Amino acid sequence: MKRQEDKSGVGDRVSGVGFDVARVRGEFPILSTTAHGKPLVYLDNGATTQKPRTVIEAIERYYQSQNSNIHRGVYELSQATTGSYEKARLKVQKFINAREPAECIFTRGTTEGINLVASSWGRAKLKSGDEVIVSGMEHHSNIVPWQMACDLAGAKLRVIPIDDRGQLRMDEFERMLSPRVKMVAVVHLSNSLGTINDVKRITQMAHGVGAKVLIDGAQWVAHYPTDVQAIGCDFYVFSGHKLYGPTGIGVLYGRRELLDAMPPYQGGGDMIESVTFEKTTYAQLPNKFEAGTPHIEGVIGLGAAIDWISAMQFAFVDHEHDLLEYATKKLGGVPGLRLVGTAEQKGSVLSFVMDGVASLDIGAKLDNQGIAIRTGHHCCQPVMDRYGIPGTARASLAMYNTREDVDRLVAGLKEIGASRQPVQSQLVELKFPEAAGPSPKAVADELAEVFEFLEDRDSKNEQLLDFAKNLPRQFDTLKRLTERVPGCMAQVHMLARKAPGTEDRFEFVADADAEIVRGEIAILEKLYSGQRAKDVLSFDIDAWFTRIGLEHFLSNQRRNGLASMVKRIRAHAEAIAGMKAETVQAT
Ligand code: PMP
Repeated sequence: MKRQEDKSGVGDRVSGVGFDVARVRGEFPILSTTAHGKPLVYLDNGATTQKPRTVIEAIERYYQSQNSNIHRGVYELSQATTGSYEKARLKVQKFINAREPAECIFTRGTTEGINLVASSWGRAKLKSGDEVIVSGMEHHSNIVPWQMACDLAGAKLRVIPIDDRGQLRMDEFERMLSPRVKMVAVVHLSNSLGTINDVKRITQMAHGVGAKVLIDGAQWVAHYPTDVQAIGCDFYVFSGHKLYGPTGIGVLYGRRELLDAMPPYQGGGDMIESVTFEKTTYAQLPNKFEAGTPHIEGVIGLGAAIDWISAMQFAFVDHEHDLLEYATKKLGGVPGLRLVGTAEQKGSVLSFVMDGVASLDIGAKLDNQGIAIRTGHHCCQPVMDRYGIPGTARASLAMYNTREDVDRLVAGLKEIGASRQPVQSQLVELKFPEAAGPSPKAVADELAEVFEFLEDRDSKNEQLLDFAKNLPRQFDTLKRLTERVPGCMAQVHMLARKAPGTEDRFEFVADADAEIVRGEIAILEKLYSGQRAKDVLSFDIDAWFTRIGLEHFLSNQRRNGLASMVKRIRAHAEAIAGMKAETVQAT
């Protein structure tokens, strides 16, 4: 990995002055808290960064002494707030070097910025036969809005492939360019691979065939200086919450002539010049794209975050770079660990998989040690498909992370690695569990007593892991026989059928590559397998989940995964109850 080169032509804005990580850490109250009784190691900065005291205080001050609506009041308070709001826009303009503040539109975040362009620019400019190019490493938020816009216009979405290291195939990109291409939308720094794309070159190439360019800067802006004029792009989007600012606020930069020509995205207050029932005329930029009462405290908080980061003159770039190199080297020494994404130009993100351990389990086990990382597909399912993996574990760095954070991560991973399960190469005979009681309800009552006895989230999760220990290991066999159950955070495989020799009994066997999901499967097998299909169908599992307080100890995503399994079970039970099928195999 080479020293990060300047991709935006603003190297002179990176200060050479020293960076005091201990002092910076002191500015983040959350970094001195604990998780599971251990000092918090926060390595999920790609999802959101923590907030320095100055940002928290700016928001508090706003509510203590400034709260009022903007642009509307003639009274002092409202005018002062309007002033603060518009001052924040000036800060954004300076931060990304836009030509004028009106080119900086406040949005809810990166996602809304891209949707705004895909919807408004797409509606006005895309026609049947046109092409939009995205890359194979995009976040879903830079794929789905373009799919929707292409569907509406009859345009075609094309994808720049990526190589094994996670770099864009620029040769392929060059081949894809033609006058049919109207938009190229690519990520600046990939959230799933860490790849830094040469957005200046991409922009020049796209402009060469007359296409417009949108850059997704969600992961870039907190780490390196941004200069939209040096890049030359037409649109640039980012989120405040990944830049040490509040959630719910972000920025869309667009070149004035493009924004001026685009129709409004939303209609409502503040975006009009005049309204009659016959005709409405729209306000000038930026108001045309800021309908309704905006996220005022978000804008003020973002302004404070930009002040704070700007005052540092990006003196943390070297520290972050050293930390990335250190972490890359240390992770390389963990047995069975493989980094996914090893681009030559890389920043802030370390995605990895470990032999014999599902990334979900890595995340859960590190959590027990007070270490927060992200697991799963990171809203980049096509990236996971590209590498043939269900997901990765991802540590993402910020300026306040230290070598000690990395050391604790690595020690945790080595411990996890030591308890890896060997892969079963032999097919095993599947064991369909018999009924655990006279009916799902009777079993549920017994199980509820177990969970009701356990008070906190951790002990309930431990109970799930205990159940998992007793579930036979049949994953590799099931994986060969069945398709994956969609919608689960781990890989889940299930085989269901009418119990042989019975009229109406349902049985199933399932397994997953993650221990915590195996615990959930063990519960579902106890509740349902071997029971009468009609009892399976009449059992109200949602009410039972509420009774055991499931929402307090399972994340939303895990509950969705559980719901997918239950849906699959009920579909099989229905088939049996309706005598529609003799043997029903999971598809
Ligand atoms: N693009 C990238 C590269 C991201 O990392 C993210 C957030 N993970 C987004 C877009 C979406 O950002 P937001 O959820 O703040 O709209």
